[in-house]
Amino acid sequence: MTNEELWQAALADIELQVSSANFITWFRNTSVTTQKEGEVVVCVPNGFTREWLEKKYQKFILRALRGLSPEVKGVRYVIQAKRAPEAAGERIRLASAQETRTLEREKKDQEPLEVFAVNKETNLNPRYTFENFIVGSFNELAHAATQAVVQSPGVTYNPLFIYGGVGLGKTHLLQATGNELVKRGHVVRYISSERFTNELVSALHNGKMGAFKEKYRKVDALIIDDIQFIAGKEKTQEEFFYTFNTLYENNKQIILSSDRPPKSIATLEERLRSRFEGGMLTDIGQPEYETRIAILRQRCLEKGVALREEAINCIAANIERNIRELEGALNLVLASGKKGGELGVDEIKSTLKHIISSPKRMVSPKKVFDVVTSFYEIKEKDLLGQDRRQEFSRPRQIAMYIMRNKLKNSYPSIGMKVGGRDHTTVIHACGKIEEEIKLDEVLREEIDLITHRIYSE
Ligand code: ADP
Ligand code: MG
Repeated sequence: MTNEELWQAALADIELQVSSANFITWFRNTSVTTQKEGEVVVCVPNGFTREWLEKKYQKFILRALRGLSPEVKGVRYVIQAKRAPEAAGERIRLASAQETRTLEREKKDQEPLEVFAVNKETNLNPRYTFENFIVGSFNELAHAATQAVVQSPGVTYNPLFIYGGVGLGKTHLLQATGNELVKRGHVVRYISSERFTNELVSALHNGKMGAFKEKYRKVDALIIDDIQFIAGKEKTQEEFFYTFNTLYENNKQIILSSDRPPKSIATLEERLRSRFEGGMLTDIGQPEYETRIAILRQRCLEKGVALREEAINCIAANIERNIRELEGALNLVLASGKKGGELGVDEIKSTLKHIISSPKRMVSPKKVFDVVTSFYEIKEKDLLGQDRRQEFSRPRQIAMYIMRNKLKNSYPSIGMKVGGRDHTTVIHACGKIEEEIKLDEVLREEIDLITHRIYSE
C-alpha cells in the first residue's frame, strides 16, 4: 500500500468512530509521509492538532492502521505547516459536502433546522448533543467530567459543578449530558434555578408542595442551570438543600452550572456551599483560535452552508470572547452574504465592526463598576464611597486593579474615577491585589470572571 492508500483507508475507518465535527477538525490536512520499520509518520498542520491526535485519537489511529497493516507498531506525528492538498483533505471535503447535501435536502421540506422541540417532561432540547459539542483545551476537563457522569451517574462526580462566563457552553454541556443520560434509560430533569424558584413559589402558594417535592426527588439526575440565581433566596435554598440531600443519599446524580465558583456566590448558605464543593468542580475557559474555527465549521455544516476558509478564519480571528458571539457573527456574515455571493475579508470585517473593537477603548469605567457591583452584590455608591468595611473595600480594590491591569488606565485617572482618590491609594490597592492573587486562586478566578464579563456583555 502506498502512504496515501494506507492513510485513506485508515481515515475511512476512523471516520466511522468519531463525530463528523471532530473528524473534520482534527483530521483535515493530515497525511502519511513515511512508513518504515513499523513506524508510520503522520503529517499534521500544527502543534495543536498533534497534541490532540496524540492525546485523544492515538487509539483509533493505531487500531485503524494495524487493521490495515499488521506490521504497524507505532505512529509519530510531525508538523508540516504547508497546507496539503492531498488525500485527507479530499476525504474531508467529501464528508462535509455529503453532510451539507443531506442537510439541505432535509431543510427544504422542513422548517429551519434550529427549531427543535423541548421535551416537556425533561426540559431537554435535542439540539444540544455531544456530537455537536466541540472539545478543546478550554473545556476539556468539564467535558471529561460529564463523560464520567454519563458512564456512571451518581457515582464518580457527585455533584458535578461546572462554572464559567456567559456564552461559553455551560448550558450546551449540561443539556447534552441530560440527553445522553435519557438515551441510556435514566430519568432526567433539567431546570434553570430561576424556574426552580418560580415553581417552588407557586407550589407554596397553591398548597402543592407534595407534588413539587415528588417531581424533583424521583429523578435519577437533576440538572440545575445557573445556580448562582438562588443566592439570597432563603426558602429556595432550603428546599433545594433537602432535595439535594434526598437525591444524594440515594446516589442520584446532581449537575449544576454557575457563572462563578461556589466560593464566590454571595449569600449562599454555608451548608449548600460545602455540598457543592464536596463533588467535582470544574470550569470552562475561553476557546482558542483553532477551536473557534472548528465551531464555525460545525455551525456551517449544521446550517448546510459553505463558507470559504479565509472567511471562517477571519471571523475566528476577530471574535474571541465567547461562543454565542461567534455564532452571532457567523449569522451576520451569512445574512449579508446572501445579497451578493460570499463576502471578502474586508467586507466581513466591516460587517462585524460593532462586535470587533478594541476592548481597551470600548470599556468605560461605568461598565467596570456595573459588573463589579453586580458580581459582589453591592451598590455603586458603596463601591465608590469611603466605607472601609471589607465587603466594600475589596470590590473597590478589585475594580481599581482591573482598570489598571486590564484596561491600562493611569493611576491618577483611576483615582479620580473611583470616588476621587489619591493616586497613591490606587497604587497601594493594585499592589495588594497583585500580591494576593499569587496565593489566592479564588480571587484570581473571580477577577478573570469579572474581566470576561466586562468584555463580553
Ligand atoms: P452558557 O450557558 O455558558 O452561557 P451556551 O451553552 O448557551 O453558553 O452556549 C452558547 C452557544 O454556543 C450555544 O448556541 C451553544 O450551542 C454554543 N456552544 C457552546 N459551546 C460549544 C462547543 N464547545 N461546541 C459547539 N457549540 C458550542
Ligand atoms: Mg447558559
